[in-house]
Amino acid sequence: MSKLTDISPLNTWLPNLDRPVIISGPCSAETEEQVIETCKQLAATNKVDILRAGIWKPRTRPNNFEGVGAEGLKWLRKAKAVTGLPITVEVANAQHVLEALKHGVDILWIGARTTVNPFSVQEIADALKGVDIPVLIKNPINADLQLWIGAIERIHQAGISQVGAIHRGFAKYGEKKYRNTPQWQLPIELRRQIPGIPIICDPSHIAGNRELLYEVAQEALDLNYDGLMIESHINPDKAWSDAKQQVTPQKLAEMIDKFVLREDVSVKDAIPGELESLRSQIDKFDDEILSLFAQRMTVAEDIGLYKKANNLTILQTKRWEEILNQVCSKGEKLGLSREFIEKYFKAVHQESINHQNKIMNSNGS
Ligand code: PEP
Ligand code: MN
Repeated sequence: MSKLTDISPLNTWLPNLDRPVIISGPCSAETEEQVIETCKQLAATNKVDILRAGIWKPRTRPNNFEGVGAEGLKWLRKAKAVTGLPITVEVANAQHVLEALKHGVDILWIGARTTVNPFSVQEIADALKGVDIPVLIKNPINADLQLWIGAIERIHQAGISQVGAIHRGFAKYGEKKYRNTPQWQLPIELRRQIPGIPIICDPSHIAGNRELLYEVAQEALDLNYDGLMIESHINPDKAWSDAKQQVTPQKLAEMIDKFVLREDVSVKDAIPGELESLRSQIDKFDDEILSLFAQRMTVAEDIGLYKKANNLTILQTKRWEEILNQVCSKGEKLGLSREFIEKYFKAVHQESINHQNKIMNSNGS
């Protein structure tokens, strides 16, 4: 089993609420009026706990709007004074940290394009030495869990005990439903490796368009996330960045009202009997699957012995192709997704190869 990261103590920066925390505000601060008006309307919904805005915008391509810079921090400070809500901004270097602290920013976040670069993260960590402010770390653009954990460790080692993670999805080339694919198994594994770290989902940057926001946000809530960061703008279609994915404060409030909040069963005193019984069925299936795996590997080893005796290669591409096609068509008829079957059988096949490899390269017969 992989080594669990020792990140402790973790002090929570989450407000004491009986529901997930909601962070909202425009993708970018554009004008004073836009920031103040958006923040006022968000506060008036009584559903938003923390205000966000991008001040320095790392854009993928040049010649796009790259943020208003430190000037925007004054507008945010004003929004904080007017609404009484804490504010958060993205920082990408030491200078940003200094400016943000100077302007009374309450929470910092590190963007996906910064998390990928350990030098930048370290620079931010060094600038934070001796400062007590919560820092939220977005996942890196690429699906590299170690890089994400590494960034969290760098910030934590600088003495920041109030850390959090933001899941904003991962870049993927080619056709895709979402702007950034969620790959939910990564934040799930992050939570396993750093128990207790608050995880916030950013459905805006996962979805990439407002029509898909609700389903992504609800999925995060069903996975027991601690909160959501959703971009909001008084005039989304006219936004200077990420126009397609922003919603008005009013639409945000309507969406929040539609969320279904479910209970975390692990905090209940006793697991309900019906759930207990269903879980024991799952455990039984898992036992059977494991035993079948073991049996399958025994046969694979016999095949390995045969191949060795007859000087045949381990990999028989045509046979592997046949297996994959067969299991995909059978599995799909059984209601399993092609993505799952492929992933699963590729892992099984690799394990068989590993077993056969051992046999081929042992000194025995
Ligand atoms: C943002 O939050 O506006 C942003 C730039 O996000 P990300 O770093 O996830 O791309
Ligand atoms: Mn954005």
